[in-house]
Amino acid sequence: MVSPVHPGAMDWSRHYPKHCSPPAHSLDALADPDVTVQVPSKRPHSPPDDLDALCMRSCAPYTATAHAGDKRVEFADIGCGYGGLMVGLASVYPDTLMLGMEIRVKVQEYVYQRIQALRAQNEGPEGVPGGYQNISIIRMNAMKFLPNFFAKGQLTKLFFLFPDPHFKKKKHKARIISPTLLAEYAYILHPGGIIYTITDVKDLHEWMVKHLTSHPLFERIPDDELASDPAIPHVRQSTEEGKKVERNNGDKFLACFRRMDDPIAH
Ligand code: SAM
Repeated sequence: MVSPVHPGAMDWSRHYPKHCSPPAHSLDALADPDVTVQVPSKRPHSPPDDLDALCMRSCAPYTATAHAGDKRVEFADIGCGYGGLMVGLASVYPDTLMLGMEIRVKVQEYVYQRIQALRAQNEGPEGVPGGYQNISIIRMNAMKFLPNFFAKGQLTKLFFLFPDPHFKKKKHKARIISPTLLAEYAYILHPGGIIYTITDVKDLHEWMVKHLTSHPLFERIPDDELASDPAIPHVRQSTEEGKKVERNNGDKFLACFRRMDDPIAH
């Protein structure tokens, strides 16, 4: 598992070939006014160990920022599991790039194949992107490397759907919502952006609400405001875990939070 050294080192064209152009790797790129080329001081030491590594390796020995007009990822599904949320949202927000982030290799491979199949079945006419070109998956540890992938204020939605509960008290530090990680989520979320949380575990719900409401950069969105949010039905029903909870007649505790404006610096 490798991560880019900074968000500009990602080649997003491998994830969204119909929406992002590949970075220029040759010295010709220096002549392209749309491309900023940086020469890193060192090449990566270790060989890439998986599919995602291709995206980073393709940036060596140069890294290039996105071409003007390229789209950027705006939604991230943290611990996306089998990808049900993105598949559900792909046609609700057809012009928005979404990325699932998942730590398990087999699950990432499954979602990758799922997306490839959906793309093949939904090809558009010449010059039109076609279906599911706006969703992709990456294998990574979201508790460690999120700011390597996203720039400050880049995201407008961040999803934490049915995260692992880590029931025992001494395992609470492994929970994906924690005071330290909230600082990272606030950094990559645009002011006005939304964190969505849902779980069937009441104790975890209360934990997430407690930490998010006590953070100075997040405020809870009242439930009546959420009624008009087109993402909410998918948050409740589209993920594989959400469907399992439904089959077992379990509870679903939903709580969403808005990233507030940065305090004015004096
Ligand atoms: N959100 C999905 C759903 O609702 O169906 C999956 C929920 S599942 C209970 C939690 C997922 O988070 C698992 O697929 C797990 O592998 C993933 N996960 C746990 N820790 C992670 C981490 N640090 N980075 C990325 N993914 C993680």
